[in-house]
Amino acid sequence: MIIIMGTQATEDESRSVQDEIMRIGLRPFLNPGVERKVIAVLGEVDVKKADLVDHFQAMPGVARVELISDLWKLASRSYHPEPTVVRVGNVLVGGDSVCVAAGPCSVESQEQLTTLAHQVKSAGASMLRGGAFKPRSSPYSFQGLGEEGLKILANAREETGLPVVTEVMDTHEVDLVVKYADVLQIGMRNMQNYSLLKKVGMTGHPVLLKRGLGSRIRDLLMSAEYIISEGNNNVILCERGITTFEDSTRNTTDINAIPVLKHWTHLPIVLDPSHATGDWRYVGSIAKAAIAGGADGLMIEVHNDPAHAMSDGPQSLRPDKFAVLMSQLGRVAEAVDRRI
Ligand code: PEP
Ligand code: MN
Repeated sequence: MIIIMGTQATEDESRSVQDEIMRIGLRPFLNPGVERKVIAVLGEVDVKKADLVDHFQAMPGVARVELISDLWKLASRSYHPEPTVVRVGNVLVGGDSVCVAAGPCSVESQEQLTTLAHQVKSAGASMLRGGAFKPRSSPYSFQGLGEEGLKILANAREETGLPVVTEVMDTHEVDLVVKYADVLQIGMRNMQNYSLLKKVGMTGHPVLLKRGLGSRIRDLLMSAEYIISEGNNNVILCERGITTFEDSTRNTTDINAIPVLKHWTHLPIVLDPSHATGDWRYVGSIAKAAIAGGADGLMIEVHNDPAHAMSDGPQSLRPDKFAVLMSQLGRVAEAVDRRI
C-alpha cells in the first residue's frame, strides 16, 4: 500500500501518518519526492486491507491511498515516480549522462590495473571495474587476489580518480570490501543470496546488482527490494545476459529487460555486454544496442593481453578497440539525447 500525500501536506501531517503506520505494527518508508511525499507501508498485520485504506484515507494531508500489486514496493515506479540517480564519487548513475565502467575481469597486478585504468579513463570511462574475489565455476581456476586485489584497486583509484566497482561474494567479506570499493558488485550467482543482499543493504554503499542466469526481471527486482528495504536506495541494476536454449553465445542478452525495467522501476540500469555475449567481437554491437535502448550505463571488460588474462580473456576488449567503441558510443548516446 502507498499513501500519496497532498502537495500542500505539512511536515507534521506526514509525520502523523508515519507514526500511525508504526502504531499499527507496520513499517513506513518515505519518498520525499520532488512534487509530493509518498509513504510506502510495508509488513503484514491482521487487519483487512480495505479498512486500512479507509483509515489512512481519512487522515489530514493524505491525497489518496493505493494498493500496489507489484511484489516489489520500494523499487516500484508507483512509490518513486522520479528516476533514482545513484552518486558514486563524482559520477552520477541514472542521470543525463551514460556512464561506463571498464577494466579487467580480474585484478591481476598493480602494473596491469594502473595501466589499464589510465587507458580506459582516457577513452572516456568514468569508473574502473576489476574483481578481487572471483566466483569461478571451477574451484581449480584463479580465485582472485582477495584483499591484495582490493588494495591494488584503491591505488589505481588514487592514481586516476576513477571510482572502483568490485564484487563481494560473502557476507563475511562485506566489511572488508566496503573499505576499498566505491560500488559493491553482487554477481549473478549471488543475486538471490538474501543474507548477502541484506548485509550490503545495511552498508548504505552503492550496489551493482547483476541479474541471475536463470532469473526473471521480477526476481531481480525482488532482490533489489531486499537491499532497499534495509534503507539503501543506492541500487544499480545490471543486465548481463541470461541462459536460453541458444548456445552460439555464452549467454543471451535480454535487451527487452531495459525498457521493461525502465517501466517497472526507478532504479538505474546498466548492461554488461561482455558477460552477455562472451565474445569480444560481439561486445561493441550489444553495447551500442544497450545505449540506444535506454540503458544508463555499461560495464565492459578490457584487458591489455586477453590471450593471457586470468579470467574471461575471450570476451575482453583490448584498450585500443575499447577507445574506438567509446567514440562510437558517444554518437549513439547523442542520437538518444544523452551523452557519455
Ligand atoms: C564479473 O563481472 O566478472 C562476473 C563474474 O560477473 P557475473 O556475476 O555477471 O558472471
Ligand atoms: Mn568476468
